[in-house]
Amino acid sequence: MRPIQATINLAAFRHNLAVVRQYAPHSQVMAVIKANGYGHGLLAAAQGLQGADAFAVLSIDEALQLRHAGFQQPILLLEGLFSAEEAMHASLADLSVVVHQTEQITCLQALSLPKPMPVYVKINTGMNRLGFAPSALGSVLQALESCPNVADITLMTHFANADQAAGIDTAHQLFRHSVADYADYPCSLANSATILRFPQAHAAIVRAGIMLYGSSPLADQLGPSLGLRPAMTLQSRIIAVQQIHPGDGVGYGHQFVAQQAMRIGVVACGYADGYPRHAKNGTPIAVAGQISQLVGRVSMDMLTVDLSALPDCGVGDRVELWGDQVAVDEVAAMADTIAYELLCAVAARVPVEVVDRG
Ligand SMILES: *Cc1c(COP(=O)(O)O)cnc(C)c1O
Repeated sequence: MRPIQATINLAAFRHNLAVVRQYAPHSQVMAVIKANGYGHGLLAAAQGLQGADAFAVLSIDEALQLRHAGFQQPILLLEGLFSAEEAMHASLADLSVVVHQTEQITCLQALSLPKPMPVYVKINTGMNRLGFAPSALGSVLQALESCPNVADITLMTHFANADQAAGIDTAHQLFRHSVADYADYPCSLANSATILRFPQAHAAIVRAGIMLYGSSPLADQLGPSLGLRPAMTLQSRIIAVQQIHPGDGVGYGHQFVAQQAMRIGVVACGYADGYPRHAKNGTPIAVAGQISQLVGRVSMDMLTVDLSALPDCGVGDRVELWGDQVAVDEVAAMADTIAYELLCAVAARVPVEVVDRG
């Protein structure tokens, strides 16, 4: 069997959820488990995070999978309903829906649902992706309040710059101003970066995503420095060793050329497993518990690591691509991307083991 494996640790999920609650002690926590639980597996994420007050996913398929697996928490569909047919299923499964545009209101008004649905009204505070203009809020609420298919209403927004120097001040003020006349509704504003940086915007319900997986939403901090534990470890083994000479290149395009004699380990992990092809020479990789580095271009099924300083390491030794020893945030930075993308991209061919290790 090819030695690559992703290990998902349920204990890390529980720990990270507790960290989120420490940062936002007065809010309910909605665990965002869209995109197959950020690549960790939808059901594994839900199991590890079953202490959350609610879940959020994208599609009704994901929500129904959770219901079939027995999860009874509120589940929010983050992009709302895509069709009238979905509304029936959503209502029967006790789902909550985001309403972000007029067609979704029209859809709700035209139906007769078995049960009214909780609705999150999304307000656009500058992301300019989903949501009503603040000025439309009055008429939107009027329409929803008079719709028999609508149960409780929550007001929400999503910040464009919570992880950036610009921060949320302008958008947060705009939100506060637009909801000032509707003070009775609970609000939900905070993603992970907002949870960490802006307690003034925690509101009734925070929507935690990346933090729960143990990774940092902030470019200048790693998950562990925020007290988080990685929920995923991606590991493999050395399957070959090459002894190379000064001037020898390694891998496609000889993107790395040895300056001196080196030992190179070949690892059974490539971009077809989800390891980023754009990771640069020097990206940290742990071999048998010791930090070394990537040399040469990542290929489809293999990558190469410098073993020169690890003379005792060889074929069969364990390699950690990311996890406790190498933060996925570090790998992402070396590949000019964010951990979200790496975690979501772990390929279906990588076997997953779910463990519960305190
Ligand atoms: C994905 C998502 C989140 C979670 O964001 P993180 O940065 O992972 O915490 C929160 N709210 C909405 C609307 C989202 O789409």
